[in-house]
Amino acid sequence: MNDILPDSTAVWQHLEDTFREIAGAYGYREIRFPLLEQTQLFKRSIGEVTDIVEKEMYSFEDSGGDHISLRPEGTAGCVRAAEQHGLLYNRQQRLWYQGPMFRRERPQKGRYRQFHQFGLEAFGMAGPDIDVEIIELSVAFWRRLGLADCLTLELNNIGSAEDRRRYGAILGEYLAGRAEELDPSARNRIETNPLRVLDSKHPGNRAVVEGAPAMADCLSPESVEHFEALKDLLAAAGIGFTENGSLVRGLDYYNYCVYEWTTDALGAQGAVCGGGRYDGLVAQLGGRPTPAAGFAIGVERLALLLETLEKIPADAQFRADICIVVIGDGVTAESQALARRLRERYPDLRVVCQCGGGKYSQQVKRAFELNARLVAVMERAEGGSPQQVKLRSLDDGFEPVTVPLERCEEEVERLLSPDS
Ligand code: ATP
Ligand code: MG
Repeated sequence: MNDILPDSTAVWQHLEDTFREIAGAYGYREIRFPLLEQTQLFKRSIGEVTDIVEKEMYSFEDSGGDHISLRPEGTAGCVRAAEQHGLLYNRQQRLWYQGPMFRRERPQKGRYRQFHQFGLEAFGMAGPDIDVEIIELSVAFWRRLGLADCLTLELNNIGSAEDRRRYGAILGEYLAGRAEELDPSARNRIETNPLRVLDSKHPGNRAVVEGAPAMADCLSPESVEHFEALKDLLAAAGIGFTENGSLVRGLDYYNYCVYEWTTDALGAQGAVCGGGRYDGLVAQLGGRPTPAAGFAIGVERLALLLETLEKIPADAQFRADICIVVIGDGVTAESQALARRLRERYPDLRVVCQCGGGKYSQQVKRAFELNARLVAVMERAEGGSPQQVKLRSLDDGFEPVTVPLERCEEEVERLLSPDS
């Protein structure tokens, strides 16, 4: 195995199709943006003093001297692209994306250097209603995957940027008083980004953090109000959650509500989705002030979870509807013409026409590998082009039939229809 990325499994297509469908059902449209960006974009958004920017980015200077990084997450690039294309100007916008992200972390189960996210971002909506709608969308996704009972929602209120500045000063003072107990990297952050210390997994730091003044005591009335309203709406939607006061997230742009969906079935890498609100980011990157919220889902962890819990549905596997078996060189053109007609007439049908020839038994074996529901055998009739096609099922779903070539399409439709 390549230790950058695990090899993909049949479940991926299923995850992608399902997420696309659900995002569409909530009014999100897909946006694409580059894997490479100016390094400065990530420094300005994620924050200079974060693990991602300090340690995990793949950054380099290109031949023209530009400082470039592979994207470690999607929000910054999404905001940059949406802003550049005028998608955020004076309007609401719901966008989703998917694709690889890159972080130089220690590879282990559920943690890779190239991994994939499904993410979505909602712009122009300041109230807690959109936060709850986004969380509800993720619940709909878990339900469709059969994972709703295996995931827990943890929430925290991290306040406004102003609240955090105030809290940062109080926390910094407290940490400075116990600096000797902290490890060097936490000690370095007392001045630059004390909130990052809350996130630390180092046992010595954890002990110090346990006695730290609470963020909750520094929150402004507006922050409290937003969070309380959000919790009321979650309750009204029947979505359970637990509050976790030490959930801070590894990116600086968040404010108000942050959350994570976690499982205990994956060991240490238990977070499958993280999100929250980031009202300051669009303006920080040069746009007009625009409230925003979003989340990102780790696709590999989700695939692992489905495998671990043996929840991969049978139909997650690729299934061809019809596989055309081509016997002899003489029928290649007719076989391809039949495949073309079928695809034109039934655009949803998955039609695989065998290329490369081979014996009948070899081609049927390939049809099995494609999980084909139906096989059409094209064979040259005595002395001419094929007049007839033999249609058969691979699992004895129906008796083989031989039909005239010109009636083949209707017969295929009849045989594949659910009530035949
Ligand atoms: P973690 O605490 O596990 O390091 P994170 O807070 O760094 O996660 P986010 O930046 O919130 O992760 O990214 C959202 C999701 O992307 C995570 O919940 C996780 O499922 C997934 N993810 C993050 N980093 C990796 C990685 N290196 N390999 C695989 N998936 C990842
Ligand atoms: Mg991380």
